[in-house]
Amino acid sequence: MRAFDFHAPRSLDEALALLTPKAVPLAGGTDLFLRMERRQTQPDTVVDLKRIPALDRIEPSDRGLRIGALTLMETLAASSLIRNDYDALARSARAVGSIQTRNRATVGGNLANASPAADTATPLMALGAVVEATAADGTREVPVERLFLGPGRTALRDRELLTAILIPAMPARAGSAFQRCVRTAMDIAVVNCAAFVRLGEDGVVVDARIALGAVGPTPLRAASAEGRLKGQRFSPRMAEEAAECAADEAQPIDDVRAGAGYRREMVRVLTRRAIEGAFQRARGDA
Ligand SMILES: Cc1cc2nc3c(=O)[nH]c(=O)nc-3n(C[C@H](O)[C@H](O)[C@H](O)COP(=O)(O)OP(=O)(O)OC[C@H]3O[C@@H](n4cnc5c(N)ncnc54)[C@H](O)[C@@H]3O)c2cc1C
Repeated sequence: MRAFDFHAPRSLDEALALLTPKAVPLAGGTDLFLRMERRQTQPDTVVDLKRIPALDRIEPSDRGLRIGALTLMETLAASSLIRNDYDALARSARAVGSIQTRNRATVGGNLANASPAADTATPLMALGAVVEATAADGTREVPVERLFLGPGRTALRDRELLTAILIPAMPARAGSAFQRCVRTAMDIAVVNCAAFVRLGEDGVVVDARIALGAVGPTPLRAASAEGRLKGQRFSPRMAEEAAECAADEAQPIDDVRAGAGYRREMVRVLTRRAIEGAFQRARGDA
């Protein structure tokens, strides 16, 4: 690993001032240190965000829930605020690595790292979340589904930090679910999938969002699968047909973890299960 300067600022302003073009922000380091060790990233300066107060809070906001970017996966998985309303997100955080990993890894780092397989990306897309991106001259919001530009690339600008994630309040008769498959317990996902549905009083789907991970250069929405659900009441056949749409929409590749054909088949299986889970929660059966 090449030598670098290390700063641990105690305020956001100080951190933003340190973010020169050759500096990188550090959260838990579970992705960054591996890349530095492999010399894939060779920064002059590392800016540790962990001592900045209030970046690791989960708090209700007037729009729903505000999750600080430095919130640990373990905190997310254990939070009653998350588990009660945002089942898909709680389960995705619980699925990350081991307990040691989850006590280092942050949700902001998971998004900013922009792996196509990032486990919290698909639930946050399905839940309609936006990220708060803060620079010295102000804060803007970016929908999570527009954050990812390609493997390792995000819409965050130079000298901008991801400071929080905002999730809309969970409406009545709505539910979400998360599914993933892995090769081994500690591996990243071969495929992951999150589904969100909102039902009308008559049980008909008025809103649906399905997001797929590890089957394209970025996590992606499965628009035709969503279209297949809207205006329908639940039936196993409808869930299966929507899952087939999702499998058609996936853009998987062969790599060391799985072949494209296997991934496509897993999209079908996991999407069906995620849809069933989201419906169960929306109806209060879960
Ligand atoms: C053993 C092991 C198992 C793992 N298992 C999984 C898994 O099952 N699922 C999964 O999704 N991931 C997994 N990962 C990957 C990793 O743990 C996650 O992506 C984690 O959430 C990254 O967060 P971090 O805080 O460690 O980020 P860091 O490594 O600190 O940072 C990651 C990247 O994001 C940037 N960054 C961090 N915070 C910010 C911010 N607030 N604003 C702007 N940029 C920022 C950094 O500069 C860096 O480029 C695993 C990693 C390991 C080592």
